Amino acid sequence: MDEDALEYHRREPPGKIEIETTKPTNTQRDLSLAYSPGVAAPCREIDADADAAYQYTTKSNLVGVVSNGSAVLGLGDIGAQASKPVMEGKGVLFKRFADIDVFDIELDHDDPDAFVESVAAMEPTFGGINLEDIKAPECFAIEERLRERLSIPVFHDDQHGTAIISGAALLNAVEISGKDLADLEVTFAGAGAAAVATARFYVSLGVNRENITMCDIDGILTTARAEAGDLDPYNRMFAQDRPEGDLTDAMVGADVFVGLSAGGIVDQEMVRSMADDPIVFAMANPEPEIGYEAAKAARDDTVIMATGRSDYPNQVNNVLGFPFIFRGALDVRATEINEEMKVAAATALADLAKQDVPDAVVKAYGDEPLQFGPDYIIPKPLDARVLFEVAPAVARAAVESGAARVDLDLEAYVERLEA
Ligand code: NAP
Ligand code: MG
Repeated sequence: MDEDALEYHRREPPGKIEIETTKPTNTQRDLSLAYSPGVAAPCREIDADADAAYQYTTKSNLVGVVSNGSAVLGLGDIGAQASKPVMEGKGVLFKRFADIDVFDIELDHDDPDAFVESVAAMEPTFGGINLEDIKAPECFAIEERLRERLSIPVFHDDQHGTAIISGAALLNAVEISGKDLADLEVTFAGAGAAAVATARFYVSLGVNRENITMCDIDGILTTARAEAGDLDPYNRMFAQDRPEGDLTDAMVGADVFVGLSAGGIVDQEMVRSMADDPIVFAMANPEPEIGYEAAKAARDDTVIMATGRSDYPNQVNNVLGFPFIFRGALDVRATEINEEMKVAAATALADLAKQDVPDAVVKAYGDEPLQFGPDYIIPKPLDARVLFEVAPAVARAAVESGAARVDLDLEAYVERLEA
């Protein structure tokens, strides 16, 4: 695999992305339209009305994938330069799944203030900013501050991608197990970027904050630990007024386990201690908190299981989210990606999983049966319908929540996407 990947990246031209021009450049006249003197005309239009940039420049379809390389995949803080293959790769996915163009921007900033200033200064270039692979807890404040300052969407995918995709899975898992979101007891392993964002999003979907128990490597997040200054300002909002305990204690009686921590930390005994028909989302990469077979075999009732892995059912894969969420947001010139838009994305994904799957999609996944049930609660990334369902749902939510700069003829929009 490593040698293949190196050759893939090294092959001429090095890297994975190039720029293409979209207008004719054959004649002297073409060139004087593309650049001086003709280019002055769109400049004047934009000078008079900044929104005209969406009409006359690539802003309307251009996303900045921005990182400082401080929390890259499983590689840790490898820095800006070494993170570039990942950011180019993210660009490849934006293009492949939603035809969105990306500039990957690797910023050599450890200091959050400097990072925020640099990204804020780039607002004119982009229709949206996808923050990527920035470590917790800095990532929370960085995103918050940029969301406040910029009037284009700013979305930290490592937080919200997982939240939205696993949120879609949760909606369907709850339906299959006949449980009620408001009554669910949910235990988290992990209290970092992905876990905190996911817990917050589950609350948006209807889970009770009081029913969420969160654990980090030192055990359950309690108010005593918060008071002792042991928690950060973001995960402390999930601290519970209860006795100290570890993950094993926290899993007893839980309806849902959400793992966003580290591989192999959950055993079958812990799964057996959960409530009837438990939901187990073991999403640590590359090795889940507990493997698919082990979790399923732990009990006689139905365990609804999801992981981050592509070789098992129910892969929580961020590529089901960001391309289509940005597509919908860009197409209504959204000023942000707000909670309503995220909930709309999760709901659209959950609904799509209940529809019959086209044969072509089944074939693309090696003829495994894909039918709504415990082993199929989220759509597959190569299912083209994800674009046609999620992008319009997000666009509509943007319009309804007041985040859109332009109105939308939804039917015409879906037709345009399908074309
Ligand atoms: P992060 O910000 O570094 O957070 C990791 C968290 O896990 C920390 O709170 C850490 O606690 C906790 N932790 C580590 N070992 C633990 C243990 N033995 N028991 C309990 N908690 C433990 O990382 P992240 O970005 O949130 O990602 C976390 C994991 O989720 C990674 O494995 C990542 O690959 C995975 N992930 C998967 C998906 C997906 O499947 N789509 C998406 C995003 C992330 P301390 O702070 O006390 O060390
Ligand atoms: Mg990432």
